[in-house]
Amino acid sequence: MEKVRVRFAPSPTGPLHIGGVRTALYNYLFARRHGGTFILRIEDTDSQRYVAGAEKYITDSLAWCGIEVDEGVGPGGPHAPYRQSERKEIYLKYALQLVEAGHAYYAFDTPESLDELRAEAESRGEAFAYNHAVRGGLENSLNLPEAEVKERMERGDQWVIRFRTPENEEVVMNDIIRGEVRVNTSTLDDKVLYKSADSLPTYHLANIVDDHLMEITHVIRGEEWLPSLPLHFLLYRAFGWSESQPLFAHLPLLLKPTGQGKLSKRDGDKMGFPVFPLEWTSPTGEVSRGYREDGYFPEAFINMLALLGWNPGTEQEIFSMGELCDAFSLERVGKSGARFSPDKAKWFNAQYMHIKPDAELAALFMPVLREKGITADAARVEKIVGMVKPRATFVGDFWELSSFFFEAPAEYDPKTVQKFWKGDNPSRLRELRELLAGEADFSPPPLHDKVAAWITEKQYPMGQVMNCLRLSLVGASKGPDLFEIVSLLGRDETLARIDRALATLAVSDQ
Ligand code: GLU
Repeated sequence: MEKVRVRFAPSPTGPLHIGGVRTALYNYLFARRHGGTFILRIEDTDSQRYVAGAEKYITDSLAWCGIEVDEGVGPGGPHAPYRQSERKEIYLKYALQLVEAGHAYYAFDTPESLDELRAEAESRGEAFAYNHAVRGGLENSLNLPEAEVKERMERGDQWVIRFRTPENEEVVMNDIIRGEVRVNTSTLDDKVLYKSADSLPTYHLANIVDDHLMEITHVIRGEEWLPSLPLHFLLYRAFGWSESQPLFAHLPLLLKPTGQGKLSKRDGDKMGFPVFPLEWTSPTGEVSRGYREDGYFPEAFINMLALLGWNPGTEQEIFSMGELCDAFSLERVGKSGARFSPDKAKWFNAQYMHIKPDAELAALFMPVLREKGITADAARVEKIVGMVKPRATFVGDFWELSSFFFEAPAEYDPKTVQKFWKGDNPSRLRELRELLAGEADFSPPPLHDKVAAWITEKQYPMGQVMNCLRLSLVGASKGPDLFEIVSLLGRDETLARIDRALATLAVSDQ
């Protein structure tokens, strides 16, 4: 295979949907798998849909995901500039080349006259298409005398250049994921390629010209672009570039959790999950939540996205970026839509939570503690995080799971009190307190054995006494291993908490 060059070519029209991130990811993985180049090109020729801040959002998102851009907006490269608005001058020449060769024509139809045609067609229950059937009767250079075309242009009438779609021809295309796709050209309309109004190309022209100039070998993009493929094939042919045209792979849609229809922001809002990688504030101030702000690890997010549409052909589900780069292939990307599952997203985060080093998690928890005015020793926080992470999905769960390590319970769970703080149990705990006070070794296993042996010898109910101890330390019947807690709190704090419970808790008489 020639050296692989792929591009991610988003339009900065708003925040990047997770489907867009997946497209970027698959391009990146494909490039890495084949030792190729991953290019970022910003397709900002649609000035009407341009949204300030969207480009930065795209680059920030890729950076957060660990998708490194080799060439393009950011690092630059041999085909700079990579922002289409900065390549404006390039495109007219190519549009004119098509007009010269008879593959395109000037059209002067005003937006109003086209609206009228649309309304007319609609009243007949039809949809208007500017195509081979009607172009012969409209205001374009196919019909107007050359002199008039020239005159109109000279006097400043606005014009567009439209592609002259060949009539009744079968275009046979190959898609790496979908196989052969055939379309009859008579079903296509004559798309606008260039507009004099803003001296800008449309997506189709700029995209083809740039893919050609940037020597793109594979176009990997969302399924929503499949209907444009015949036009793109025809454009390559019209330019005489068919020989070197890229191979195409159209990725399946991301579907709603119900499996019915395309995953939308509305689904996320309704069901409480983000559809964007990072939080996004729209120009009107509307805030949309992001995976980063919701507490997802980028590795978990990427891992989840990688498996939404691609499968490794094995049972393996947890993949690092490096492993994905080694394993990815377009042949294992499915044709049918991939159903998004918010629960699975959480599951992936929990898996990464469990395997992440305690030190890394502690560093993420430290700011939370600081915000609560708690100063804690890093080594101690590491230990605590290590103990609670098996029950955590997000770093945001740590406080709830571990607050008792940092603060003595301010209150005691009434149900637990009712269940265990009764009869002789408090006085048994008082005896246990004395045992602990005299104990030199507070490391968990020996301490557990000692206490358990003592309870057995005294013929006290094991669960009742242990739960009273837990209640006095934690304030409830939750938490990790009791003697791990005792050991980490240390003797002084353990005894103080027992004393406090004995002093404040009324004995339940049930
Ligand atoms: N600018 C297009 C988009 O926003 C790119 C489509 C393509 O990759 O050809 O998705």
